[in-house]
Formats: sequence, structure tokens, C-alpha cells
Amino acid sequence: MEEIASNSKLPKPLFGSRYIGMRKPYMVKTPWWLKKLYPARLWHVDTEKKILYLTFDDGPHPEATAFVLNELKKHDALATFFCIGKNVLEWPDVYKRILDEGHAVGNHTQNHLNGWRVSDDVYMKDIAQAANYIDSGLFRPPYGRITSFQAKHLRSAMRGRKPKIIMWDVLSADFDTLITAEKCLENVIFKSRPGSIIVFHDSEKAFSKLQYCLPRILNFFSEKDYRFDTLKGMDEEGEPV
Ligand SMILES: [Zn+2]
Repeated sequence: MEEIASNSKLPKPLFGSRYIGMRKPYMVKTPWWLKKLYPARLWHVDTEKKILYLTFDDGPHPEATAFVLNELKKHDALATFFCIGKNVLEWPDVYKRILDEGHAVGNHTQNHLNGWRVSDDVYMKDIAQAANYIDSGLFRPPYGRITSFQAKHLRSAMRGRKPKIIMWDVLSADFDTLITAEKCLENVIFKSRPGSIIVFHDSEKAFSKLQYCLPRILNFFSEKDYRFDTLKGMDEEGEPV
């Protein structure tokens, strides 16, 4: 995501800032121009209705995913889980529970590869391997990085499923060890709007922040009459990549 990353609007680092001399390598809110640059990729759902699309990357994970599923259930909330193939193999019961509880799943490669850093051949084979275990046309590239060539050949890598690349509107930044859980919560509360696709991680690294943020986010938006839905079917209805 580093190219997504350069944020010219960030204020100049203040003296004493822990970001002094460096920029955060991501943007919490995806800017309009980036969405325009890749219009075939889904960045948010165009709706005025109070619906949010929570997404959880990098699972399944026995504790983090179980926690997410329990919290979602309390609010009758549905979500989309972009799973890593090797984690599906390692935790098949957790993966099955995601499906059994009505959530959507998507392909997040077999080994969490960065499409810019490996050859096209290696990348496409990794997606194809994950497609053996994850039955979905939804695809989210790890780190948000996929080349136009790779995107164009996604359909054959996903074994003929009509693919849809799912990006995001809001990053919770739960993966950022330099920010607090409160900041992570603020990112989502202040930047989300109807139709937002929001990224979290059901992973070891993000778990402590997730435990703080997710219940509060579900409460906050439920009280404002929002509902939470899956991105199921977006691969069928969406534009081809
Ligand atoms: Zn990931």
C-alpha cells in the first residue's frame, strides 16, 4: 500500500511526534482520485442506506476470528472475511464456522503474497491454490497491491469464478503498532459513511486493538440504526475487473 500511502495532506510532523521525519505508510480514508484510478475495483458500495460492510483480513485465526464472530452475533451483524488459504487449511473448523453463521468469504491468496514483489506466475498460482479452499469470486490483494496484468488474469487464477477485487473506503489501521486502540476506533467512527467498506484484521497482531474497537463500533453504529452486511454477490453483480 505504500503507493496508496503517500499522503500529501498529512500535516508536517511536529517536534516530538513519533512520526517525525516519516509518513504513515497508509491512508485511513481512501481518497477519491485513487478510486477513480481503478474504477473496476470496489472501494465502497454506492448507497444512501445505513449499511456498513465490515471486512476482516488474514484469518481464520482460532482466537481472533472466534471473538469477531461472537461480537457480530450479538448485533445480528454480517461481515466478509478475506481468508489466507494456508490459515483455512490450518483452522478448518474456524473457517466452517464463518460460513455456517452466514458471513461471506473472499480469497486473500494462499500465502499472503505482495503482487508487486513476486513474479506474476508465482502470484497467480498462489491465488489458484487458495481458490481450492475458498469458494468465492471476491478477492482482496494483500497490502492492496496487484498489478493491472494480474488483475486482468484473475478469472483463470480463480478457476473460472467471476472475480471482483474488493478494496476499501476506510482502514481501521488496527495493524499499526504505533497507534492506540482509541485512535483505531476514531478512524472508523469519523471516516465511515453509508456504504463504507471497512478493513479490520482477525489476526494475532491486531487482536488487542480489535478487542477494544469492534464492540464499540458495533454499538455505536447499531445505535445510529446502521446494519452490517456481507459483500456476497458483488462478484456476480460487479463490473468485470
Ligand atoms: Zn492481509
